[in-house]
Formats: sequence, C-alpha cells, structure tokens
Amino acid sequence: MLYGLIGRPLGHSFSKRFFDNLFEEQSIEAHYELFELASIEELSSLLIRENLQGLNVTSPYKEEVLAFADYLSPSVEKLGASNVLKIERTSEGKPLIKAYNTDVIGFQKSLEEENGLKNALILGTGGAARSVALALEHRGVQSIFVSRTPELNSRGDSSIISINYEEVEAYLPKIDLLVNATPIGFKAEECPKLPYHLLSSQHLVYDLIYNPQETLLLKRARLQGARTKNGLAMLHLQALSAWEIWHT
Ligand code: NAP
Repeated sequence: MLYGLIGRPLGHSFSKRFFDNLFEEQSIEAHYELFELASIEELSSLLIRENLQGLNVTSPYKEEVLAFADYLSPSVEKLGASNVLKIERTSEGKPLIKAYNTDVIGFQKSLEEENGLKNALILGTGGAARSVALALEHRGVQSIFVSRTPELNSRGDSSIISINYEEVEAYLPKIDLLVNATPIGFKAEECPKLPYHLLSSQHLVYDLIYNPQETLLLKRARLQGARTKNGLAMLHLQALSAWEIWHT
C-alpha cells in the first residue's frame, strides 16, 4: 500500500515522519512518499498507480485538487478546500477520489475537553482560519475573523464577519477564545499586533503554530494569566483522522 503527500515545496515533512512511525509501530505493510508536483496536472499520472490508497494535500493544491474529486465531504463542500484524499477503485480499476478536510476534525477534537466556549476571535482568513471557524460552528461557538483587509473577506457572504486589528480592543473583553491562524509567530521575535494588556484568565489563547512550542503570542498571553495551547495536538489529530479515513 502506498500513501503520500502532494504539495510544493515539501521540504521537511511532519506527515512522512508521522506515517513512517505509525506503519512501523503497527507493523503495517505500507510506505509513505513525498510527491512534489510542479503543477496539479501531474496528479493524474500519480493516481493511476494501483497501490496508491491515500494522499495528504498541502499548499498550494488544497483547492485545485477538488477538480479531481468524485466525492466531497460536507466540510470540503463548505470550505472549498481539502487536505486528505482517499483513493478507491471501480471494478474496472478506475480511481475514485474522495476529498476530506481533517484540519476541521483535528481542531474540533483538540478542543473536546474545553467546555463552555461561546465566542471566538480568529486571526487570519486563510484555509486554516476557515477550518477553525467551521469546527467552532459545529460546536455552537460564534466566530469573528480578524483581518488586515476585512473588507475583502466576506465574499458577499453576510454570515462571515471580519474586523480589523484596531477593532480587536473592543471585542477582547467579550470573547473567551482567541485563535491565531496566521503565520505570525514562526519567527520567535514576532507576534500579532494585539492589545495584550486586555488578555486575562477569561481567555483561552490557541496558536495553530507548533514550532516554536511557545510562540511570543502564547508567552505574552500566559503572562497575562490566559490559558494557552499550541498547534501540536491539532497536527497529530488531523493526521490520525487521515489514517482513520484511509483504512476504514
Ligand atoms: P495562509 O493561507 O497563508 O493564511 C494565513 C492568513 O494569515 C492569511 O489569510 C492572512 O489573513 C493572514 N496573514 C498572512 N500573512 C500575515 C501577516 N504578515 N500579518 C498578519 N496576518 C497575516 O495560511 P494557512 O494555511 O491558513 O495557515 C495558517 C497557520 O496555521 C500557519 O501558521 C500554519 O502552519 C498553521 N496551521 C497549523 C495546523 C496544525 O495542524 N497545527 C494546520 C493548518 C495550518 P488576512 O490577509 O485576512 O490578514
């Protein structure tokens, strides 16, 4: 059995290490390869490999990959993006592609033990931010996006509310969850521009970044008395969900 990751560039991949370890620990006869595709058209020649059972999908193909799918999960339909493909075969051996989004499942499961969350601010409006919003919607938490350009983000959808960073001050006292879904924090000295003095023990501050383990955002939030969480649990849970999808 063959599994793998498509994207460009791929560099060091968490997924390869994760699945190589999983296959070894569970004595599963499978291997996991990195497929760095120059364009999404190259996916066609990959899909005809008969032993290919599943693919993880990363940037920049999470949206383009939908053109190859025969089935979209409800989350994928809503988000217009997929990070996991399951490949089945028809009786004639033709590939049948099912598209899922395990970022939604991973984030949702990572918050399972948190009760009572009601209102969230999500920094960023990319794929991860939208997955987080959908996961929160599933458990009845209201989300507002924080964007550098909120006027560009509603896409005509009145259910999507976006504010700019200057407006955060007015919202922070009314929320209990703040999620960073931007790349700000990969560099140890960077953090989102926020009124940190307004963070307190009423807040859970969740950074999707897992390296560094404690971003400057999380450190500053912790020093204000907020509870903090990094993206490591979500990373593992979304990968485990991919495996559950592939082998069930
Ligand atoms: P993305 O598509 O690049 O989107 C990031 C969003 O952040 C953008 O839509 C943008 O929103 C905002 N942004 C970008 N550059 C910024 C800057 N210089 N200053 C302020 N805001 C900026 O990324 P993504 O795929 O959604 O991923 C976001 C983060 O989540 C990344 O750090 C990624 O590694 C992490 N992630 C973690 C997991 C996990 O399992 N832990 C899973 C998925 C993603 P505006 O333009 O509206 O401001």
